[in-house]
Amino acid sequence: MTSYPSLHMIIDGERVSGGGRRTFDVVNPATGEAIGALPLAEAGDLDRALEVAAEGFRIWRKSTPQERAAVLQGAARLLLERQEDLARVATMEEGKPLDETRIEVMMVVGLFNFYAGEVFRLYGRELVRPAGQRSTVRHEPVGPVAAFAPWNFPLGNPGRKLGAPSAAGCSVILKSAEETPASALGILQALLDAGLPKQVAQAVFGVPDEVSRHLLGSPVIRKLSFTGSTVVGKHLAKLAADNMLRTTMELGGHGPVLVFDDVDVDHVLDVAVAGKYRNAGQVCVSPTRFIVQEDVFARFRDGFAERAQKVKVGDGLVEGTQMGPMANKRRPEAMDRLIGNAKDKGATLGAGGSRIGNQGFFFQPTVLSEVPLEADIMHEEPFGPVALINPYKGEDEMIAEANRLEYGLAGYAWTNDAKRQRRLADAIETGMVGINSHMIAAADAPFGGVKWSGHGAEDGPEGVLACMITKTVHEG
Ligand code: NAD
Repeated sequence: MTSYPSLHMIIDGERVSGGGRRTFDVVNPATGEAIGALPLAEAGDLDRALEVAAEGFRIWRKSTPQERAAVLQGAARLLLERQEDLARVATMEEGKPLDETRIEVMMVVGLFNFYAGEVFRLYGRELVRPAGQRSTVRHEPVGPVAAFAPWNFPLGNPGRKLGAPSAAGCSVILKSAEETPASALGILQALLDAGLPKQVAQAVFGVPDEVSRHLLGSPVIRKLSFTGSTVVGKHLAKLAADNMLRTTMELGGHGPVLVFDDVDVDHVLDVAVAGKYRNAGQVCVSPTRFIVQEDVFARFRDGFAERAQKVKVGDGLVEGTQMGPMANKRRPEAMDRLIGNAKDKGATLGAGGSRIGNQGFFFQPTVLSEVPLEADIMHEEPFGPVALINPYKGEDEMIAEANRLEYGLAGYAWTNDAKRQRRLADAIETGMVGINSHMIAAADAPFGGVKWSGHGAEDGPEGVLACMITKTVHEG
């Protein structure tokens, strides 16, 4: 039986804790009880991490592709061996069902193995020049990266934040969410155990604004990688601008799902309901606004509500649970506010709408329909188990609604008309589009948004190149 581990930071390969440092209580969201005390960084810890990261970059920028591939493959193997323990710890911290945290481990394994191959393809190009002259374009690692990862994919997010810099030849200081530290430490430990030099990757925790100001204000850091809300992303982008840092910003979304009347409604419902309540809706690419053609609207709405009521909600550690609690106290509070506001504005509640019990942060799978555009939830990312279902006449109106918001992360469309599928792929203004599919993330495919959902991509070749600069060398 896995028990929750003791918590620490990892600076220069050392486990750092105690010493009178402030602490943060890590809470199991299924019980609401504290399960660990996380040490928080003081300024001295951050200075030390920065000094080590500068040294780590000097070491790792000279590493060969073979060395980087060996570390990434080794870490992937260790993660596979440790899958069950990691999954359990992640569920204890974040709440999502074990099946989801097990998949998260596999997602990191897949990403590290993909990057292990990608490191051999980071070559540049030679330009055509007159005899005797030569111009070459090279990719070089950008430098030490400050990476901030949120709690909703406690293993997957740190995997992305650590994997890309390690593949590119950078060093990295990771500040993962204080709510889910043990999962992040598990990913970092696998890389260190696989031979990543201790100076190359470190983990700190702290008061988020203190840590980000300190790291981004240092001349050591050359890149910011952030996943989280658009509000915090804008704040960090402004801090990064002072040092003209490269940035990868993976921010919020408000996933539109266009459902046309030529589809198998039951099949779409099965996929959409599973997608909506995955991780209790706390997923940046969660399907959220269901934009349904009027002929099938009533059937879709009623079928959604019927299925939502059957979702098995409970402790994620119990096999068979389909939806765990929300990850922290702030989320059910946000649900109460957004759902209350939508009902006040005239939305119809088809299922759920309330908290479950008084222990932990459980919330019912919820369906709202005929939601007026003035409701807060129609423009604020709900980040919770709420489906918003509204009827529309036809394609133009549905595309206009899909593109109405400043968010542009993931969009989905269901139709069996091949020409319309192409039109939608062109017209939907998001970084990722799922046509007749809600599977939009893969190790070899760039993952990222446009507009207020951010810029740059993680995963795929683009994920590594985002940690590299180009240098052009002209030889006369
Ligand atoms: P939040 O915006 O306060 O925090 C989001 C993440 O950013 C957390 O991991 C937090 O530790 C980190 N953070 C906050 N301030 C920071 C700072 N100054 N410097 C560095 N990191 C900082 O909100 P929250 O209550 O944790 O989450 C709620 C909202 O965050 C959600 O509504 C959702 O929009 C967004 N979110 C998005 C993702 C995503 O995958 N894009 C993940 C988690 C949360």
